[in-house]
Amino acid sequence: MHQDLAEVLLDEETIAERVDQLAKQLAARLDDVATREEPIVMLPVLTGSLVFTADLIRRLPHKLRLDVVTVSSYPGTATSSTGAAIHSPLPEDLDGRHVVVVDDIFDTGRTMELLDGELRAAGASGVTSVVLLAKPARHEVELRPDLVGFEIPDAFVVGYGLDYDGLYRNLPCIGTLRPELIR
Ligand code: 5GP
Ligand code: MG
Repeated sequence: MHQDLAEVLLDEETIAERVDQLAKQLAARLDDVATREEPIVMLPVLTGSLVFTADLIRRLPHKLRLDVVTVSSYPGTATSSTGAAIHSPLPEDLDGRHVVVVDDIFDTGRTMELLDGELRAAGASGVTSVVLLAKPARHEVELRPDLVGFEIPDAFVVGYGLDYDGLYRNLPCIGTLRPELIR
């Protein structure tokens, strides 16, 4: 798998150190919310944020509920955003709950904008967004994530949960693919 990478942007150790810091920052934000409204609802956006979420939630001391949501913006092999659509029911019983949306990457921002609006409309008392990666050059919405792990250049990346055509999610690092492998 590694041999399919053109460049490693973030190695395993760099990611782990940053996830530690993000968990501390998120925990500090949630301290305030958690005393008032327990439990917090963690909402990873499938499938890309699975690996990040697994590492993140085990570093949080709060009582939390774990739900999932499926949003697609990159069907099949496309590498440019075609917009976002929610493909699963939102968690029930969001009324008065604080929701933490976890995503792998904030690209155009359409996924997060859509979820933020829908969750608030469903009664969430607040929404905190945490993303491992952001590509500032591609943002198309005014909303910005509350916590960002790394800002990266406008390149298509795989690994640590991120796929290309369903593959590479289990790479422990994040990198770009060799161009000849992208259809
Ligand atoms: P947005 O709605 O912010 O444009 O897109 C967010 C989603 O697009 C992410 O959750 C992710 O699934 C996908 N995405 C955006 N950029 C990349 C990338 O460089 N690599 C991969 N694998 N997925 C990406
Ligand atoms: Mg996604």
